[in-house]
Amino acid sequence: MTAPRGLQTADPGASYRAAAGEIQEAIRRVLESGHYILGPEVEAFEREFSAYLGVTHAVTVASGTDAVELALRAAGVKPGDRVLTVANTATATVAAIELSGARAEFVDIEPRTMTMDPEALAQQMAARREPAPKAVVPVHLYGHPADLPVIGEIARRHGLAMIEDCAQAHGATIHGRRVGTWGAAGAFSFYPTKNLGAIGDGGAVTTGDALVAERIRLLRQYGWRERYVAEVPGQNSRLDELQAAILRVKLTRLEADNQKRRELAAQYLRLLAGAGLKLPETAAGCEPVWHQFVVRTPARESLKTHLAAAGVQTSVLYPVPLHRQPAYRDDRVHLPVTEQASRELLCLPMHPGLTAEDVDTICRQIMGWSARKV
Ligand SMILES: *Cc1c(COP(=O)(O)O)cnc(C)c1O
Repeated sequence: MTAPRGLQTADPGASYRAAAGEIQEAIRRVLESGHYILGPEVEAFEREFSAYLGVTHAVTVASGTDAVELALRAAGVKPGDRVLTVANTATATVAAIELSGARAEFVDIEPRTMTMDPEALAQQMAARREPAPKAVVPVHLYGHPADLPVIGEIARRHGLAMIEDCAQAHGATIHGRRVGTWGAAGAFSFYPTKNLGAIGDGGAVTTGDALVAERIRLLRQYGWRERYVAEVPGQNSRLDELQAAILRVKLTRLEADNQKRRELAAQYLRLLAGAGLKLPETAAGCEPVWHQFVVRTPARESLKTHLAAAGVQTSVLYPVPLHRQPAYRDDRVHLPVTEQASRELLCLPMHPGLTAEDVDTICRQIMGWSARKV
């Protein structure tokens, strides 16, 4: 199914076209430099990205999945440990936890923001027996920050390392402070459709802890401190110079792109006020970056079908919670809020290439569906 341009759920090609000249120039610069892995572009991007976030260290790696895995390992998570996270997230979050050798355990979400419910986390910690979890991975889902002030306090009380999954929230803030600066570490993905996207895979770990940053630098390249001498067992997880040079161009546009997403979200909220859908809410003190615009309705399938017929692409992130997926299935786990959200949510088109006219068109279709439904 191909939707007309603008009415797709995401459009990474549009963000290339918007900066094509600069990106081609950056690519040429790298090609001619003769330096293709861990060079000056990676160093410059790490400096620029950490300055943008307001954090001391950003260490790039090969993907967001690697960023979560290496952040957990650098924070001291060992094989056999337990790590708490949510079940309504990218498979990558849980894949990364399991790659570190740990086991994921799921916490339910708050209905308003669909992010980790601090109360459910506190109850789970109070109720549990051995082995005690070592870390907690809140996910800033759809660009909306998880409740880090409260989750962070619970983590401190129980000695949990808090690793933020920031893959959908580049630039989002809580009380003016960016996500990725609150926990022991933040994990970012630069997958092409993210708010800050490369033209291939990429990721980064951010941290204020020099020791964590140093461990990531060792782990991402065979455990080397000195070339050819492994100090710890490591792996190959490097961002290449081409992606770093492209990300430097994209980073200069991130604020404007996020602002565009905020305007589109405000327009959706205004035009859909009477549609009978549950619209996204913003928690007090939070400034989300609208990676997705997600509505909820028990009549999800009917709305999705109606929009598809009108040429509007939608998606469901995520249709099956992790504790119901074959690889991680656990029938003893019940997460009622997560499970209900997964049945009702629908992601409308949201990307900086979308125009106000596109949003008008989409909302007119939704209002027409809503009027016919009653
Ligand atoms: C995209 C994403 C990841 C994984 O990133 P990759 O770069 O694809 O490995 C992890 N967590 C969340 C919440 C994501 O959206």
